[in-house]
Amino acid sequence: MRLKNKVALITGGNSGIGLATAKAFIDEGAKVVITGRNPETLAAAEKVLGAGVVVLNLDVTDAAATEKAFAEAAAKVGTFDIIFANAGIGGATPLGDTSPEQFNRIISTNLTAVFFTVQAALPHLNDRASVILNGSVHAVLGAPGWTAYAATKAAVRAMTRNMASELAPRGIRVNQVTPGGTKTPIWSPMAQTEDAMSALEARIGGMSPLGRMSEADEIAKAALYLASDDASNVTGIEITVDGGMTSAP
Ligand code: NDP
Repeated sequence: MRLKNKVALITGGNSGIGLATAKAFIDEGAKVVITGRNPETLAAAEKVLGAGVVVLNLDVTDAAATEKAFAEAAAKVGTFDIIFANAGIGGATPLGDTSPEQFNRIISTNLTAVFFTVQAALPHLNDRASVILNGSVHAVLGAPGWTAYAATKAAVRAMTRNMASELAPRGIRVNQVTPGGTKTPIWSPMAQTEDAMSALEARIGGMSPLGRMSEADEIAKAALYLASDDASNVTGIEITVDGGMTSAP
C-alpha cells in the first residue's frame, strides 16, 4: 500500500492513461479524485474505480472553474498529496491545414490548462506533495503533422523543470511521465475500425526497438513510482515509457 492515506487528483481520469493511473493509485490505498468532461465515460470510470472515487465534471481549459472545483474537492476529501495533470488531446494536422481554432484548442488544453491546473491545486497541496505532468515523446521527435501538439509537450517539459525548481522549498516534487505511443482512445479519431487500429499499432509500435505500443497501465506504473515515497528525492525529471523509441542516437 504505497499510497496509504494519500489524496490524489487526476485530470482526465475517466479515460486511457488517467483511468489506468486512478486504478493503480486506488489499488495502492489512495483516495482519488478524477476529473473529465464526458458524462458517459465519467460514469463508466466511477463504476470501474468503485464508490470511493470522487468524480468532477470539469473542463480544464476553464481556469476559474478549475479553481472552484479543486477548492470544493479539497474541502470534501482533504488537501492533496498528489496531482496528475494528465488531461490532454491529440491531433495531427498538416501545418498548412491547421486552423487557428485547432491550434488554439491544442495550446489551451495541453499547455495553458496544465499551468492553471497546477496553479489551482497549489493552495490545496500539502508540503512534500508530488506533482506529475503528462508529456510526450513528441517533445523531442520530429513528425509530420504534430507541430502544434509537439510544441505543447515541449512546453510541458520546460514547465516540469521550472515548477520543480520553484516548488522545491516546500518539498513539493514535480516530475513528468513521457509516454510514447500508448493504446488509449486518444487514437480513435485516427483509427476508426479494428483493422485501422491494428495497422496503426503496427506502425507506431514498429518505430521502437521493443516493437510495440505501450499499454496505459505501463504509464500508470511510472506515475505510481513518481507519486510514491519511493521517489522521495526525485524531482525535475521525466520517466520515458516508449519501448526505446527515443533512445536511438
Ligand atoms: P484519452 O483520450 O484516453 O484521455 C484524455 C483525457 O483527457 C480524457 O479523460 C479527457 O476527458 C481529458 N480531457 C481532454 N480535454 C479535456 C478538457 N478540456 N477538460 C477536461 N478533460 C479533458 O487519451 P490518453 O489517456 O492517451 O491521454 C492522456 C495524456 O497522455 C494526454 O495528455 C496525452 O497527450 C498524453 N499522451 C498520450 C499518448 C498516447 O499515445 N496515448 C502518448 C503521449 C502522451 P473527456 O473525454 O471527458 O474530455
